[in-house]
Amino acid sequence: MVKCTNCETEITANYCTQCGQQYTGRRLNFRQFMEDYVNSFLSLDRSLFANFKIALLDPRKLVENYWNGFRNFYYSPNKFLLIATIFLGFSFLFSKNKFLTLTIDIENFSGQLAFLLLMLPLLTFSSYPAYWGFRKNLYEHLVMNSYNLSIWIVVFSVPSIILGKLDVPVLEIPLFIAFIGLTLYWNARVLALSRWGKIWRTLLNFVLFSAIIGLIAYFSM
Ligand SMILES: [Zn+2]
Repeated sequence: MVKCTNCETEITANYCTQCGQQYTGRRLNFRQFMEDYVNSFLSLDRSLFANFKIALLDPRKLVENYWNGFRNFYYSPNKFLLIATIFLGFSFLFSKNKFLTLTIDIENFSGQLAFLLLMLPLLTFSSYPAYWGFRKNLYEHLVMNSYNLSIWIVVFSVPSIILGKLDVPVLEIPLFIAFIGLTLYWNARVLALSRWGKIWRTLLNFVLFSAIIGLIAYFSM
């Protein structure tokens, strides 16, 4: 009988039923060491791809899973944000502190962090009233929008870097509009059921999003 070294539960399968620790039952050799090494890279790659695939194809499943308290199968919203920060960093690095058309250049402050600290509240405070009646609280909206923003940052960081290199300013605004549009529509894919529901909620979300920016701009002048 083998006991889990972590929680002392009896091991009956490849994974401990109590804490989830994996048990291989094999003596370590060189081949396994190398396999482990290669696998850690490949699995990172594979899980990243799998997570972004579900986020793009079935956003409702991804977000509801987290809302309902399930963890460690899909990435958490924070892990998505972390990955997005890395991609955003590349975009700022290769295209002069720019993400699509938005330049963020603050002295002694991380541009990536500023972008997230700006966009996350804007998205959260606009989707919350836009989806009033869906009985989701502000934190649930924050979670949804953390996933949401991260995915589209990763997707758009590639054209953003290419734009920065090629210097085609005429494409910057259309791409930024596409970025905002797809981001707001993604919330509708999580929450709204009917096609028209998705369209008018996205529009309402956009109006509220723009109104908040307008108010901030008005009061900061
Ligand atoms: Zn255990």
